[in-house]
Amino acid sequence: MDHPQVPRFATTLSVVNAWGRAGHFGNARVANERAGFPRHFDHQFGWAADQLSKFAFAGRISGDALMDQHSHLPLQLSIMAANDAVEMRNGMRSADMHKYHQLNQFFAWDPLEAPNLRRCPTCVEEDLARYGVAHWRLHHQWPFTRHCAEHRTPLQQACVRCKKSPFVEKVAIQLAHDDCLLCGHHAHFTPLIDESPVKGPAEAYWSLLDLAFRALKGEALEIRSFDEAALRRRGITMDHVVSKTLTRWNCRSGVELAAKLDIVVQEDNGARKLKNASPLMMKLAVLNCGLEM
Ligand SMILES: [Zn+2]
Ligand SMILES: [Zn+2]
Repeated sequence: MDHPQVPRFATTLSVVNAWGRAGHFGNARVANERAGFPRHFDHQFGWAADQLSKFAFAGRISGDALMDQHSHLPLQLSIMAANDAVEMRNGMRSADMHKYHQLNQFFAWDPLEAPNLRRCPTCVEEDLARYGVAHWRLHHQWPFTRHCAEHRTPLQQACVRCKKSPFVEKVAIQLAHDDCLLCGHHAHFTPLIDESPVKGPAEAYWSLLDLAFRALKGEALEIRSFDEAALRRRGITMDHVVSKTLTRWNCRSGVELAAKLDIVVQEDNGARKLKNASPLMMKLAVLNCGLEM
């Protein structure tokens, strides 16, 4: 069977677009729409990965492969109890949602993909040599991320000519090596780091990026063995862990940490507060510290 050759961690939309460009759809835009516009569902689970597999790939990329290799699901599951993770995964595979959730946001106010698409120049080169097209990668799109976790290179997001970035809302048929869709300039993006530097201390930033990338690969098994009760027996409370996390990130509050991680914060009567009480990357940052205590 003809199996589409796509790199692990290519975004779902990227895989859909490459598959369409290879001539497997009459209308790639229809498949894109089916794959889902960005939307904010409150606590809505179910991506219908199996449906997308049938609809877009005639089963040649399975629902399981879509979830495990082309979605942020493994990252989300890494911080869940094993039984809950199995249940969530089953929901994602078979739920009847009609729309596969493009941004994989899991919770409405905790998007795991920044609005602007980013790419790593080394990934682009390697993809072009191997597949003839270059893919957008999941781990480049995490809002706090400024580097490719694999190649350590600064990510790129803005066109040198029009200074604009490709953006997911467009749901256009775009791949990472394409000319700028907005001005037609041959794709040569300025490094993202020039516009938007890492917001936290380098050590904390890289440690979190590496942990998140290992979690996406399903390798951060130590997260599940994090044992709050065992810490308490040693006189360490979660308050201590949180306080160590804030110190590590050079922050005084959770809201400040959220801002450094580019997590959505809202103004409420002049006070800034988190839209989602426990954003995934924040949890990971805290666990990252707790595991070292
Ligand atoms: Zn890379
Ligand atoms: Zn441009």
